Parts: sequence; C-alpha cells; structure tokens
Amino acid sequence: MEYWKRLCPSHISIPSPRPSQHQSNGLLFSQHCRLAHTDTEGDYVVARQQTIPEGTLILQEDPSVYQLHPSLISHRCAGCLMSLDGIKQPIPCRQSSCTWHLRYCSSICESDYWFKVHAYVCAFFVVAQNPALLLAFQMWTSGNPMSLVSNLDQQTTDMYEKGATFMADLFRFSIHDPQAMQQDLVRYQAILRCNGFGIQRKWVSRDSVGMDTVATALYLQASKFNHSCHPNVLALFVDKTIQLRTLRPVTAGESLCISYGPLAANMPLHQRQHYLRDRYFFTCGCQACQVVPDPSLPPSIDQVYLCPNCTYKRLVLKTPTCPQCHTTIDWARILKIEGAIDNYEGDWEKVLQLQSSIYHDETLTLGKTYDQLARVHHLANRSNEAIYCCKKSLSIVQSVYGPTSPEAAEEMFKLCGLYATAGNRSRTKEWIKKTCDLYRLLGLDQQLKDDMDELDAMGRFI
Ligand SMILES: [Zn+2]
Ligand SMILES: [Zn+2]
Ligand SMILES: [Zn+2]
Ligand SMILES: [Zn+2]
Repeated sequence: MEYWKRLCPSHISIPSPRPSQHQSNGLLFSQHCRLAHTDTEGDYVVARQQTIPEGTLILQEDPSVYQLHPSLISHRCAGCLMSLDGIKQPIPCRQSSCTWHLRYCSSICESDYWFKVHAYVCAFFVVAQNPALLLAFQMWTSGNPMSLVSNLDQQTTDMYEKGATFMADLFRFSIHDPQAMQQDLVRYQAILRCNGFGIQRKWVSRDSVGMDTVATALYLQASKFNHSCHPNVLALFVDKTIQLRTLRPVTAGESLCISYGPLAANMPLHQRQHYLRDRYFFTCGCQACQVVPDPSLPPSIDQVYLCPNCTYKRLVLKTPTCPQCHTTIDWARILKIEGAIDNYEGDWEKVLQLQSSIYHDETLTLGKTYDQLARVHHLANRSNEAIYCCKKSLSIVQSVYGPTSPEAAEEMFKLCGLYATAGNRSRTKEWIKKTCDLYRLLGLDQQLKDDMDELDAMGRFI
C-alpha cells in the first residue's frame, strides 16, 4: 500500500496498448449467427442456415470496459456496479485523501478497480465527471478496439480533445508519447459515442415504472449488430452482462438487428431519423423507415389514421388522398379532433371514444388509454371492467411490439395482479404461468427478479 502512496501518476508506467490483443471476428458468434460485411453497411450480423426460433439467446457477452454513471458513485459499487443498499459497510477508496466518494461492495472490487483505472486518476476529481474519458482510458490500457466505427470525421471533438489532452498530460513523464496517447483517447471517445451501450435498470415506484442508465459499457461483439426501428433482437442486461435474444423467428440469411433507442411504434419517422443521424451518424433505411410502409408490419405511429370514407386504417399524416378510395382527406377536421382530445384528460371513456374515431384500432395511443381506464376501474373496485381494459391494452401491445416482447410481458404482469385482486384463482394461476413463461423466454426472469418474486407470491396467496 505504501508503495502506491508515494507515487504520483506521472511516475507510473502503464502497459502499452496491445493491438494484437483485440479479438478478431473469429470468435463471433454462436451457432445461430455470423458476421457479414458490405462496403455500404460495414459489419453486420446475419442468421446462419437454419431458422432461429423466437426467444433464442444468440449472444451473451461481458463488457470489454464499463464505467458507473457519475450520479451513482456513492450508491453502487464502482467495481461491479452492484447496488450497495444491503451492504453494511461499503469499502471506500484506499487513499484517505480521495475526494471521489467511490464505494465498493468488497475489497476485491476496490483493488480491481484501483489497478485498472482509479490509481491513475484518484488525485484528479475532475475526471470523475467524465465517464467517456475514463472509458477511453480503460480502452487505451486494455487493448485497441480498432475494428469498431468511430465516425470521427462527423463528430464535434472539442470535448474529447480537452479530456484527452488533460489525461495525456498526466502521463507526460512516462514512457508513452503523449501526442499519440492524446489522439488515441480522442478516437476512443468517438468510438464509444457510436458503440457504447447504456446498462439499464428498471425502477418501480408507487405509481410509475421507468428505466435508468446505471453505467456505460462497450461490448465488442454486440456492437456489430445494426439498428432497426422494428428490431428482431432484444438487448437486455443481467448485471453487466448483455444478452441478445430473438423477438420473433428469424430466417436464414436475415439480418439480426437491435434498436439503438427509437422504435417505429412510439416515435414518428422524422424524429427517429433525426435522432439516429444526430446520435449515431447514419440515415436509417430499415423497413419501418421505407417511404412505402410494409403492410405486414404493425401500424407505426406515422400511419395510424382511419380513412373517414372507407375501411383503410393506415393513413399517413397529411397524405392528401386515401390510397384505397382516393377521396381527398379533410385533415383539418381530423387534427381538430386530435387537438380536442387533450381537453378530456382524466375522462378516459371520452378520450377513448374520440381516439377510436380517428386512429387505427391497434394504435399504442389507444392501448395507453385502455391502460388508464384499467387503472381507474381497478381503483374503483370494478374488477371485471379493469380486466377487460387491461386485456385490450395487452392485445394492442402484442400486435405493435409483438407477442414476445418485454412490453407484452409488462401488460401480462398487470393482468395477473388484476385477476388476483378479483379473487379469480384459476385465471390468476393460468396468467401467472403464461407470464412466467414469457419472462423466461426473454430472459426477464434474471433481469427482473422482483417481478418474478411478486408473481410467485401472487400464486401462493390466491
Ligand atoms: Zn463490487
Ligand atoms: Zn480514490
Ligand atoms: Zn428505421
Ligand atoms: Zn379511403
């Protein structure tokens, strides 16, 4: 311990980056998929010969580097990211002069993180607020992720350069060439921007649920999956391990895609395109983004209106005429109804009636209203009505996100609770079984252990 206390970072010799250590494409992937490459698309992943069934685990990978979100520094172990809630005496940094307020679940984690990163920056609290720089530094010490895209020419690099210059300056007396190090750190931050994953955790409070980003991580293999606004692969995190599973059957040769965030179901086309260009520097050309929407796809938020004249349900906003009956559409009237809906917030029956008069019956907007109605009925002890509305919401979610989706699982979880409240023993058991099966299929049973415990308790007490 004394040995470290007497060193300042510029005296510490760090091993040089080892480009040879970077994994080649060879270790990709499972028996289910392989890496493909075209000049226009770059690297991407396709299904191998056979059809992959839904719910198949196609990749499980630990991060090559990861970094706890700065706001969680005293709530989670900086080494393994575990919550420190149940830990009586979390371990602080070994340096009493440290101002980072890092906490660890064990001395093993402290030591591990110390030698990997923290020893070099413990004295420089300013770096604590820059997770991208800390990650880039870890990339630098652990090997060169050469084959990942950086889109460096399209990014604004001022912030990257500032951080990289600061970091390279810390090592100016070491054996490394500070200029080369500075350039590497800039490029690694750019790579992270395009390839980094946010490790998400679900939180549940009294009246809402949401997702939080716990950490940023780089996965060398998962990074090779392209984006689609209607993805066929789901990415989930179990602790810091990423798991990729198919959301529906995928035929041989088909490209396997995850979503980088935007989904056709809940974000309009122009917003998705803008987000992906701004954040990831590409123009999405996925099926859901094609100008002529594929009718086999579920209705996206861009094509949800009903033709007032015929049975056509996929009218894209402001299209002058109906593609089926060719009448001119009176958008002013439709938009007036849409605008009036906000005035009825809270009166969900009325909202539902107005929405049903203008939207496709499988629109998420309607699903959300059914969800609200289910809540209202539930609070007023009208079990049957609550169950009816929850089932409506479930069927919409199933058609939009797919029957094998975390969104559907969430609605099924609610339905179990409603059947249990209604005291319907056989239905509760039946839906608990279906829900648990879906949780297991998607790997949610490992990620959302609390939900599984709750389902288990429901089953035992009904
Ligand atoms: Zn730990
Ligand atoms: Zn420290
Ligand atoms: Zn798209
Ligand atoms: Zn029509």
